[in-house]
Amino acid sequence: MPMPMPAPESPLEALLAASGDLAFHLSGTGAVTYAAGLDTAAGFGPAGSAVQSFFELFAPEDQSTVREAFDEAIGASKRVPLNVALRPEFTTRFRWLLSGYDAGARRGVMAVGHQIPDEEATTTDPGMHDVLTGLPNRLLLQDRCEQAIELGNRQGSSFALLLLNLKGFNKVNEAFGVRAGDELLRQVAKRLLSHVRSSDTVARIGPDEFALLMPDMADPETMLKLGRQLLALTEKAFILEDTEVHVSASMGFSLYPAHGLSHEALLQGATAALKDAKDAGGSRCSMFNNAPRPDARAQLTLESALHQGVTNGELYLHYQPLVDIEGQIYGAEALMRWNRGGTVPVSPAEFIPVAEECGLIQLLGNWALKAATAGFARINREKNMALTISVNVSPRQFRGANFLQTVADALAFSGLPPHLLQLEITEGILMTDPEAAARLLAKITEIGVQVAVDDFGTGYSSLAYLKRFALSSLKIDRSFVKDLPAPKDLAICRSVFSLSHELGLKSVAEGVETQEQWHILRDAGCDAIQGYFFGKPQSLSDFEALVDAQALPQMKAA
Ligand code: C2E
Ligand code: MG
Ligand code: MG
Repeated sequence: MPMPMPAPESPLEALLAASGDLAFHLSGTGAVTYAAGLDTAAGFGPAGSAVQSFFELFAPEDQSTVREAFDEAIGASKRVPLNVALRPEFTTRFRWLLSGYDAGARRGVMAVGHQIPDEEATTTDPGMHDVLTGLPNRLLLQDRCEQAIELGNRQGSSFALLLLNLKGFNKVNEAFGVRAGDELLRQVAKRLLSHVRSSDTVARIGPDEFALLMPDMADPETMLKLGRQLLALTEKAFILEDTEVHVSASMGFSLYPAHGLSHEALLQGATAALKDAKDAGGSRCSMFNNAPRPDARAQLTLESALHQGVTNGELYLHYQPLVDIEGQIYGAEALMRWNRGGTVPVSPAEFIPVAEECGLIQLLGNWALKAATAGFARINREKNMALTISVNVSPRQFRGANFLQTVADALAFSGLPPHLLQLEITEGILMTDPEAAARLLAKITEIGVQVAVDDFGTGYSSLAYLKRFALSSLKIDRSFVKDLPAPKDLAICRSVFSLSHELGLKSVAEGVETQEQWHILRDAGCDAIQGYFFGKPQSLSDFEALVDAQALPQMKAA
């Protein structure tokens, strides 16, 4: 039975009247046992005063969402936000907060409705909404995010901010026209909305970028799982003009309060996570990684020191022997070295990514290619040998407009026969834009140059690319070699070697440090070896001396 309303002049009523808010006490079944603010809440009128059950306030299609929030509030005795519009006859919009309690016989929910100002509630407000999809835009998302932070500060609640970037949207625009592109975005928006709770906000914040704000989300695992579901949803075929169209997506998210306490920090975190997902090849969902990132200022200093280093000639190449399975040298890999300020060695693992980021890699990579081919052409001439030189190629260098020409120039300039040049690329290069990579690799192979996949096994699980691209070798990563004869590593090595043979590729093992590893690899079917056991990266003259002496461990061991 509804409880009598308090006199309008009671302090609670006066407060609620001033704020335009509403408060209900509801039984465990949702019956209204107490209500305050009803007669003053704008747009509520007599229809609202007669309400017996909280659920009556909402349209039939929203009943399940409301019940879910209601049950969740009672079940977990916690505060659950609810952002569902009331039935159309109630003109005011409220953002609800349901606080449940369950003490055996006494179960119930306190429902507080906070009035949403008109300008924010109008879904067609173009200032706050994306005209194409009708979704909230960046501004409204920020506002909601700030409100969620406020709520979090007061009540200790959490939430997630996820960014989703579509890949392939531009291709759809180009192939089918802008109208089809628009339709694709609307369909993506619809799919996202259909999957999330109504208390979540789905926003469109860029031409091919969406954002999701998800209240009460604190668990990284749950969020990653949800991310994978959203990914699957986005990557399911779309039908545009009777044609099946596929796009893919990358996602990154941050959690409040774990990853930041302001909208700006959370957005930065989600953006960094999105970048991680893209860098890892896309089609995945990444969480913001709190691990300290290289500080941007230090990065900049390193970048300018690297520029300086290039000018001052602080960079040079070392050469690490490549040996056949019997231990005979057949070539070397060129590895870049930098002595910062002429004295302090900096690892390539540290400066190559910086060079990649700032674009210097084009210059450095092309220089390495020219210097290495020139050096080996000379050695081969002088020694009447046919040693192979293997040169690493970075993603940016590979994608650069003139890469093929640079390779051809290096060969022409040095006079090295093309089949004695090998380019080492990583799996990531192949997967970023497979069609373009396949075309370029075909041309590289056409001029006779060999291509090896470096660090094989650390990138992607898809092996489909092995048959698709023109390749000559697989260099199995050091991580599978270093613990040999560990049975699992051995099993991986064996399958990579037999896969290589089946596909007509040469298999090379990196990071061989002991005779035992060498012999195990030989018995497992590996074709060639590289590692400290046969020679560290060294100067060209030391490498030449090693070739002359063939002072190799297999001779000592024999
Ligand atoms: P990578 O191409 O996989 O080169 C092999 C790395 O393993 C080298 O590290 C080499 O010194 C190291 N290594 C070889 N044998 C052993 C061993 O037995 N034990 C151990 N612990 N390590 C071994 P480095 O010289 O530090 O180079 C690291 C990475 O930097 C290279 O990995 C490559 O990805 C990149 N890099 C080096 N030079 C160039 C270059 O000229 N251009 C580009 N784009 N990347 C380069
Ligand atoms: Mg390499
Ligand atoms: Mg490698």
